[in-house]
Amino acid sequence: MHTLEIKNLHVAVDGKEIVKGVNFSVRSGQVHALMGPNGSGKSTLANALLGHPRYTITDGKIFMDEKDITAEKTHLRAKAGVFLSMQYPPSVAGLNVGQFLRTAYQELTGLKVSVQEFHKKIKADIAQLGMDASLLRRGLSEGFSGGEKKRMEILQMLVLEPKIAILDETDSGLDIDALKAVAKGISVMREKGLGVLLITHYTRFLEYLMPDFVHVMSDGKIIREGGQEVAREIEEQGYD
Ligand code: ADP
Ligand code: MG
Repeated sequence: MHTLEIKNLHVAVDGKEIVKGVNFSVRSGQVHALMGPNGSGKSTLANALLGHPRYTITDGKIFMDEKDITAEKTHLRAKAGVFLSMQYPPSVAGLNVGQFLRTAYQELTGLKVSVQEFHKKIKADIAQLGMDASLLRRGLSEGFSGGEKKRMEILQMLVLEPKIAILDETDSGLDIDALKAVAKGISVMREKGLGVLLITHYTRFLEYLMPDFVHVMSDGKIIREGGQEVAREIEEQGYD
């Protein structure tokens, strides 16, 4: 059983307090949905959880399995089992998707796997997301559509097998097939014990995923918490 614990977290960006005392814990096998109007601080919270240098934690703590990771570098949080979808830094622009994923996997696990072994290992994950294996040969600098980027994000998650994943609007801009594929990918991981913090606007997505908890954020604070009924209320009544 793994736990990401957020305790009285306050986060400032450019000297301005955006997240104003958030508390909750995500455990193995749980899906938590974080909802709330635009600008309420959801992405700020996600970035702070992952250790983005622009986001300053001014008070409170983050624990992964009871280890204080509040001041840890991002890659050490990843090693502790917290997933962040990596943006492609320019230094890896020469890599293709397969090389990128294999490098990330090796760095995170400390294991060495051959290209063949690795492709065999991830074939099922790719198929499950409704993607084609030729994807692995595509260069990272080649354009990806919005939907492809989101599926790639989930593929990274499947490959890296984190304990807790934070997904910031992974569902936005997806067509219905992609949405289902992404929800399926997350569900499979959840059954294997992944804990998920899912930031979303989309109650449709939550119908596929059935979150255990819904947290509603407004002006940097959690103003409402509950089960799926909270998402349903928001669908019907909006945030007011
Ligand atoms: P949400 O994800 O809930 O829409 P955000 O966390 O993106 O909200 O933004 C919350 C507030 O913090 C907004 O007022 C936004 O302008 C501000 N903010 C977030 N990130 C930055 C940043 N990198 N630089 C400046 N302001 C930011
Ligand atoms: Mg956001």
